[in-house]
Amino acid sequence: MFKQALAVLKEYFGYEQFRNGQEQVIEYLLNGENVACIMPTGGGKSICYQVPAMIFDGLTVVVSPLISLMKDQVDSLTAVGIPATFINSSLTANEAYERIAELKAGKYKLLYVAPERLEGDFFIELLNEVKIPFIAVDEAHCISQWGHDFRPSYSRLGAMINKLHKKPLIAALTATATPLVQKDICTQLQIEEENTVITGFERENLTFSVIKGEDRSAFIESFLSKNKEESGIIYAATRQEVEKLYERLRKKNYLVAKYHGGMRDTDRETEQQRFINDDCQIMVATTAFGMGIDKSNIRYCIHYQLPKNMEGYYQEAGRAGRDGLPSECVILYSPQDIRIQRFLIDQTTMDPNKQKQDLDKLQAMINYCHTEDCLQRYILQYFGEDTDYKCGRCSNCTDNRETVDVTIDAQKVLSCMIRMGERFGKTMIAQVLTGSRNKKLLDFSLDKIKTYGIMNQQSAKEVSDFIEFLISDAYIEVTTGALPLLKVTEKGKEVLLGRLTVLRKKQMETVKLSEDNG
Ligand code: ADP
Repeated sequence: MFKQALAVLKEYFGYEQFRNGQEQVIEYLLNGENVACIMPTGGGKSICYQVPAMIFDGLTVVVSPLISLMKDQVDSLTAVGIPATFINSSLTANEAYERIAELKAGKYKLLYVAPERLEGDFFIELLNEVKIPFIAVDEAHCISQWGHDFRPSYSRLGAMINKLHKKPLIAALTATATPLVQKDICTQLQIEEENTVITGFERENLTFSVIKGEDRSAFIESFLSKNKEESGIIYAATRQEVEKLYERLRKKNYLVAKYHGGMRDTDRETEQQRFINDDCQIMVATTAFGMGIDKSNIRYCIHYQLPKNMEGYYQEAGRAGRDGLPSECVILYSPQDIRIQRFLIDQTTMDPNKQKQDLDKLQAMINYCHTEDCLQRYILQYFGEDTDYKCGRCSNCTDNRETVDVTIDAQKVLSCMIRMGERFGKTMIAQVLTGSRNKKLLDFSLDKIKTYGIMNQQSAKEVSDFIEFLISDAYIEVTTGALPLLKVTEKGKEVLLGRLTVLRKKQMETVKLSEDNG
């Protein structure tokens, strides 16, 4: 049967061989088993269900939340001779009826639908009249409350599929799932956990960097002047930021497009097309841009502000270099952005559990910006690939500053936290260590504790950065609540006991000009 899969791949898609992972996913299905497939954006998930759809008898149903992309997907399948269609709210009632009749008559091999569609009994009855060998659940992370894009209709999918008289096989596909989300997908869709295929999260052609303490505008200008001919995306956190940056670049005669949720659909469509057709090089956008964009020659992806979580970040950054050529993924990090992201979480989420999850995810993102470990490795570990790999390309791997022993400073910070009762946040801890006369600090009598002022050779900012470093390397954990409080971890306690050494890249010398009272 597998030969047949290869034949379909060649005949319809014109590819000579499967990519890593595609083969395993297809094998599970052809052997009659459910499967979960976690593959990064651009990894080739579609083939994993399109090829078996052509081998199985009957109609394969693809559940996807991306209504706006269904038409494009169907058009490209039709173009290669695969009979596919979609049913969604963009159709008139007559068109929908016509398609339903065609479906019953067996005209199609693939049907794309939004998850809400499966909630109607009418639709389930329709599917009961058609032979459905399997259901592909695309963007399957939407099923999990632990994911970054939970959709209630997805969480009802398991129950809906159970309503079908003859249970189809299930293939769940996503580009972003932490181990917790993977487990959840498997439980809800009744997939054996060992039938999870995770592949190639590493992107060998991407170079990750985190730029700290540089003027963003100056960085962008210098970066763009060096990459004039190349296509790239700049993601900004808000619509206003997009507009501002767009105007600035336009005035400097860059060929630039913009995209955000506040624009009219038609304008967004035009801008997107200009970028895709290489009529302009730069796309400045909010994260609303990019879902399903298959533009292969994107050479860089710059995040102008801190992204809100690793899942989103890797998906967005992963849009660079789909053609396999070297490409850059840069975050311009400033600690002020944390406050904006916390504020956004506070504004958009009422549920305290969800808020905590979002804050934890944000913390993992902040840790990414502060780690001195290989950035690609940090990402792989975040998504559950256990590896001690070093990419050799990222801003940390290529950072050749000397490594110094900072165990004593770490002990100062950790013991100060314990003396303060582990009831405070980063700023207050840094102020106590540097001996600030801040009123709140004095009100709490924190100037009386033994560690008050023991790091007064450094500025509060430097100590604060050092604390961020200790958090990213898990000596300190952040308990996320209304106020983020810091606690010493087990690993941190080992440092206090003198059983662990803390190493850090040598920091630039800075001159302390005046008492930093925060
Ligand atoms: P994903 O859905 O995982 O983001 P796609 O399914 O859109 O990725 O595939 C990304 C690109 O890789 C597409 O251009 C696709 O045609 C190409 N591709 C997929 N499988 C193969 C293969 N076996 N050989 C070569 N190219 C492939």
